[in-house]
Amino acid sequence: MQVPAYVEYEKATSVDHALALLTRFGPEARILAGGHSLIPMMKLRLAQPETLIDINGLSELSYIKVTDGELRIGALTRHAQLLESPVAGGHFAILHDAEAVIADPIVRNWGTIGGSLCQADPSEDLSATFAALKASMVIRGPEGTRTVSARDFHTGPYETVVAPGELLTEIKIEIRPGGGSAYEKVGRRVGDWPVGAAGAALWLAGGTIAEAGVGLTAVGARHFAAAEAEEFLQGAPATEASFARAGEIAAQHCRPISDQRGPADYKRHLVQELTTRALRRALRRAGPQRAPGRDA
Ligand SMILES: Cc1cc2nc3c(=O)[nH]c(=O)nc-3n(C[C@H](O)[C@H](O)[C@H](O)COP(=O)(O)OP(=O)(O)OC[C@H]3O[C@@H](n4cnc5c(N)ncnc54)[C@H](O)[C@@H]3O)c2cc1C
Repeated sequence: MQVPAYVEYEKATSVDHALALLTRFGPEARILAGGHSLIPMMKLRLAQPETLIDINGLSELSYIKVTDGELRIGALTRHAQLLESPVAGGHFAILHDAEAVIADPIVRNWGTIGGSLCQADPSEDLSATFAALKASMVIRGPEGTRTVSARDFHTGPYETVVAPGELLTEIKIEIRPGGGSAYEKVGRRVGDWPVGAAGAALWLAGGTIAEAGVGLTAVGARHFAAAEAEEFLQGAPATEASFARAGEIAAQHCRPISDQRGPADYKRHLVQELTTRALRRALRRAGPQRAPGRDA
């Protein structure tokens, strides 16, 4: 049986207390949220923190609400809460799509949105989802609060801009008219990590795409986004031909590797197909300004 190394344990009673504990115990302290990523890594000795700071009691970090024209998700919100939220799914159906295919009910009941994003696993589904939605991440630290775009949040595999002493507290997504979104994933079996996945968000003005977000998972896309495909889509007609071309562009610019989940060529093919499908479904879901393009 794998057992983690000895570790000190502290239970935070508020966000301020968590920040004070992070400062007191220094860079070898780690936040414990759901523990579904951190504890297995500790058992394998891939992570050996000296102190765990448990934030599970912090109800102030667990919420899904709309204020000031933004959907706000607290970092300690569990996957299951996001999956079941009519507010989140009503505004951004992609959140429901992505959560429905993350792991299994046991992981979803305990794993948190903040933990997923901070773990920054290249195969993790929410980073591409929030990249497609052009979300913002709110980070608190001893110097105060800062907000970074989802595109600037990840600095590499398993790395983010959250510095030692800081805490991710909230994810914000602007609610705009004419929007629709969707997530498409292929895994080897139900509940598995993706072989490849694509998320799309469209904001329409008449039959034209005013803005598009395309996020990619597990295929080596920079910042989990297909920037070249987004650029192509901006101002393009919302048609099947545009979506097919965007899929080709996304596939051309990602950098999948061959591994136990599949060969690189197959993953590139998935990117093309899943991007096109996600865009098509996002269009079907787009608001009152829905475009007249073909909706297969
Ligand atoms: C069997 C299994 C299958 C899975 N399948 C999928 C899948 O298909 N798709 C997918 O996307 N994910 C999948 N996951 C990953 C799962 O979603 C994550 O393990 C989990 O949600 C991480 O969240 P957590 O709250 O458990 O984080 P923890 O394990 O508690 O923390 C992870 C990391 O984030 C840090 N951290 C946590 N919260 C914060 C915060 N607020 N601020 C700063 N740092 C923080 C921790 O210090 C740690 O370094 C799977 C996991 C398992 C165990």
